[in-house]
Amino acid sequence: MSVTQTMSRKADFPGLVTAEGKPWHYLDSAATAQKPQVVIDATSDAMGKDYATVHRGVYSRSAEMTLGYEAARRTVASFIGGQEDEIVFTRGATEAINLLAYSYPDKGRVLLSELEHHSNIVPWQLAGWQVDVCPLTDDGRIDLDAAEAMLTREHKMVAFAHVSNVLGSMVDGKRAADLAHAVGAKLLLDGCQAVPRLPVDVAALDCDFYAFSAHKLYGPTGIGALWGRADLLAAMPPWQGGGAMIDKVGFDATTYAPAPQRFEAGTPAIIEAIGFAAACDYVSDIGREAIHRHEAELVRQTREALGAMNDVTLFGPDDSAGIVSFLIDGVHPHDLGTILDEENVAIRAGHHCAQPLMEKLGITATARASFGIYSDEDDVAALIRGIERTKRIFG
Ligand code: PMP
Repeated sequence: MSVTQTMSRKADFPGLVTAEGKPWHYLDSAATAQKPQVVIDATSDAMGKDYATVHRGVYSRSAEMTLGYEAARRTVASFIGGQEDEIVFTRGATEAINLLAYSYPDKGRVLLSELEHHSNIVPWQLAGWQVDVCPLTDDGRIDLDAAEAMLTREHKMVAFAHVSNVLGSMVDGKRAADLAHAVGAKLLLDGCQAVPRLPVDVAALDCDFYAFSAHKLYGPTGIGALWGRADLLAAMPPWQGGGAMIDKVGFDATTYAPAPQRFEAGTPAIIEAIGFAAACDYVSDIGREAIHRHEAELVRQTREALGAMNDVTLFGPDDSAGIVSFLIDGVHPHDLGTILDEENVAIRAGHHCAQPLMEKLGITATARASFGIYSDEDDVAALIRGIERTKRIFG
């Protein structure tokens, strides 16, 4: 067995076969990851034999579910090196960034980068921040030298993708934190693409906020987290009102629960939180250093094979984390994706919710292959075979 096949966890993932029982070469993990059986079982139990509401029940099932829900918060916190009271459960990274953009009390200029996902651009615009944009280096990384030159005391926030969902490039989070702090700003890292494939420790990064989604981390949809430093969360007013986020409600005056409950109005995503924690445990057991090495090898094989084709343009640096974006001369990415689908190979084609990056690159779309714990070199080989067939079809 090859290195990548030894690591591959295909057997844990019931979703990785077609309706006809053939292998499905799933290369769209950056959009959303397949779910291992342990996560499916955890959510199924939470929805079935263990199900009850949290925080309010006087009966034992509800008390147990409350313990499970709060244990999930601890698991998610320790997964990124944070503390339990610093994790706000949200609908996903998108909602986490919206929460921060709306609720952060000291609004001003925010420094974003040219490679950001729309969910790390539009919330800042909607919440009235003045947006500045840090350029990229030639090989597709956020240019931190340029960031240093751009940052001023008017900047209250720096918000960068820890790993780009298009280019796979990683930012040096610690240096970004130092640059932000040097002008009195805070750093948000959008960790959507980092948490499934890199060891993440918010204390070592010295960032102030970290946003991510469970569904890219082998967990359920509909849940994610905003991690924030306790003192910063404590200074943020609530952004949605309702049950569970209050201390005392009156028609004349209402007071609020402390963070993180203050930001979790309404009945929370109980089942999803349990599944989120199961996914963190699953990934922790395998180890993100090992996952990172595994995906780096698959990226190397893919970039080498595509780089040998003289009609292929590769985007992003060679050390991209788990993600390879490319274009084939004369073949639209959507056509490539459709033909690959006939071969049971699933890739992503489009702007990947990063239209400003597409504009900067002078293109409208890329084809993107992205890897996960279950990917192996058979998937890479199927991709390359499918690309060769597509090129034959297009002459
Ligand atoms: N940021 C990045 C870098 C992403 O890749 C994504 C998902 N494609 C998001 C933010 C948004 O995540 P979600 O849709 O799960 O809220």
